[in-house]
Amino acid sequence: MRYVSTRGTAPELSFEEAMLTGLARDGGLYVPAEVPVMSQGDIAALAGLPYEEVAFRVMRPFIGDTFTDDEFGALIEAAYAGFGHAARAPLKQLQPNHFLLELFHGPTLAFKDFAMQLIGQLFQAALKRRGDRVTIVGATSGDTGSAAMEAFRGLDNVSVFILFPHGRVSDVQRRQMSTVSEANAHALALTGDFDDCQARVKDMFNDFDFRDRVRLAGVNSINWARVLAQVVYYFTAAVSLGAPHRKVSFCVPTGNFGDIFAGHIAKKMGLPIEQLIVATNQNDILHRALSSGDYVTHGVTPSISPSMDIQVSSNFERALFDAYGRDGAAVAQLMDELKSGGGFHISQGALQGLRETFASGRASEEETSAMIKRARAEMGELLCPHSAVGVHVAQDFQGETPLVTLATAHPAKFPDAVEAATGIRPALPPRMADLFDREERVTRVENDLSAIEALIEEGVFA
Ligand SMILES: *Cc1c(COP(=O)(O)O)cnc(C)c1O
Repeated sequence: MRYVSTRGTAPELSFEEAMLTGLARDGGLYVPAEVPVMSQGDIAALAGLPYEEVAFRVMRPFIGDTFTDDEFGALIEAAYAGFGHAARAPLKQLQPNHFLLELFHGPTLAFKDFAMQLIGQLFQAALKRRGDRVTIVGATSGDTGSAAMEAFRGLDNVSVFILFPHGRVSDVQRRQMSTVSEANAHALALTGDFDDCQARVKDMFNDFDFRDRVRLAGVNSINWARVLAQVVYYFTAAVSLGAPHRKVSFCVPTGNFGDIFAGHIAKKMGLPIEQLIVATNQNDILHRALSSGDYVTHGVTPSISPSMDIQVSSNFERALFDAYGRDGAAVAQLMDELKSGGGFHISQGALQGLRETFASGRASEEETSAMIKRARAEMGELLCPHSAVGVHVAQDFQGETPLVTLATAHPAKFPDAVEAATGIRPALPPRMADLFDREERVTRVENDLSAIEALIEEGVFA
């Protein structure tokens, strides 16, 4: 299996290389040269299997010879062993023909754990074999950083440093980073906002001397291996609702388009998905783009669903690549327009292609809160604000096809928004009830590149 860049000029890579590289050298994102298709029989045979076995069968064709079957199977087992639910991604009925796919039973209570826990294992195994090590640096507004620290804690060949904006993440999110006690994992509280954190990470990747010295690697949401891990739960959910004999639709709370793009891959593999519904909060660039054909940035307005507060949706480039008939030059041109002019127009043909798979909707702040309240009253369900955006948008798409809304985080991760809407403060699951008693370890850093780099080198070579 080879991987090609969405901008068409970077070298083709193997799965292992694409995973360890992240971003392509031409600025594009890696996608499989060809998506393997599963037969109806293969899909039907997934019914009733444990999550890990489905994961193996769905992902195996994508990894080529990076791991043997035995190795890959063992890495998948290890990745999901720490989840707090035997089904890993349980499906729950909310309304007639409307279901909630609970993706928050991992160690940091958000769906990011599905991908991060797996790539923690895959990185470790690949690096060990190569006799290599890497330094992972990331910026977070909350969920990605905690998932990454949790996944890479204690691994021999990896150091992980996460920059988060001091005072601007929730207490639960901060503690999920700061209470990681292993010496290879570091939470860095930067004086500044999320954009500053992201800018400093970008600077580090552009400082080639530093990059080579510490062997910098990235695990942000454009890493192909993360998308791949998320394809699996589309299969488990659809099969338990009758696929391949019955079509299923999914409504996905969306920010960077990684999670929903995994659904697009599942569809290309042969899973009978009718619609993939993009649900955005008030930062609705994707909903506007799919409605009008104009992808135009407007800046970010902070919301109660902060993990979806994005200005540019990086994985959307992968969907554009397919919509433009895999024409890397056309995608590169759109991305240039975005960079220089803050937007681009999607051609009529490409827009039509996108609309064959993707529908969209948005939820305002008021609608999100109202949905949290209504779900509690009418469905007996406490929703996190991100999941509530999904359930709100899903109300417009209910019909004969079973509809699955992805619940992307546990309500206890965003207790203030949930309490404001329902009067109930959601409790952490018992296995992490002591989160507020654990000792915190945070390093404060100024918004200064050389100071941050010095700190990281000190940590890596300690
Ligand atoms: C990251 C995240 C999202 C958005 O997922 P994308 O893959 O970026 O579209 C939604 N909800 C929660 C809770 C998240 O952490």
